[in-house]
Amino acid sequence: MQREQYVYINGSYFKKEDAKISVFDHGLLYGDGVFEAIRAYTGIVFKLKEHIDRLYDSAKSVKIEIGITKEEMKKIVLETLRRNALTESYVRIVVTRGEGTMGVDPRNCEKPSVIVIAEPRKPLFGEKESVEAIVSSLRRVPRSSLDPRIKTLNYLNNILAKIEAIEAGVEEAIMLTQEGYVAETSTENIFIAKGDEVITPPQTAGILKGITRDVLIGISKELGYEVKERELTIHELYTADEVFVTGTAAGIVSVTRISGRVIGDGRIGEVSERIRGKFKERTRDPREGVRI
Ligand code: PMP
Repeated sequence: MQREQYVYINGSYFKKEDAKISVFDHGLLYGDGVFEAIRAYTGIVFKLKEHIDRLYDSAKSVKIEIGITKEEMKKIVLETLRRNALTESYVRIVVTRGEGTMGVDPRNCEKPSVIVIAEPRKPLFGEKESVEAIVSSLRRVPRSSLDPRIKTLNYLNNILAKIEAIEAGVEEAIMLTQEGYVAETSTENIFIAKGDEVITPPQTAGILKGITRDVLIGISKELGYEVKERELTIHELYTADEVFVTGTAAGIVSVTRISGRVIGDGRIGEVSERIRGKFKERTRDPREGVRI
């Protein structure tokens, strides 16, 4: 039997079918809000503190006063997981500008809407550990306009890239910066392995500062690879030994073909395999998260 799903909205828990938000919410009307995607593995909410810190930074940047403390937010996430009896889960926190009148003026909204949804995890690429990608024709929104470090509800730039991937019959789209360097995919950060180097675009490239990305940088160093955060060209992607993408939803997924070029020998490589092994250990380590 399907278990009842409960969603937190502004202080109350609602059954899924009753979990509703006003059509006058500026999150819907203008994409005016911020969010976080978090995962729980075997009863541990991985990097919960880091996700909540990033949420509050996003909110601060767009001038949304969340109105509850980080400690309270942590408790709400844990309680939502408990109410849904989930130990392996995908959790979404959404904070919108709130309900208001028409018009982008944020003063039209009295208080933000806070939503927490917990679902059983559905693998982003259907448990695939390797995928195919294209280089998108769309550039990532430049950080001089809207810094991709802010995890806002405006995902159309990413969604349009994803549509290109779907139309091309592949799983992911790699987006470039305004200058034409590699940025990130629709919802993952990107890494290459070449010789004993592991290279990923710098935060200043105009990318989301992924929490999985940060963990992987640490793991790669521990495994003895030389980690570089520097600009990457498309040529370097095509000629890498390995390319892999990382994110909360995806985990670590190898990219074995990009815009018709086979990457390395076309299989999941040794570097990403070793990193994936260590990452799996981390996600099950209580010191790396918060127990439900
Ligand atoms: N880039 C973008 C655009 C994303 O949406 C995500 C997913 N949050 C990532 C990178 C990966 O970030 P994280 O590892 O924190 O999930």
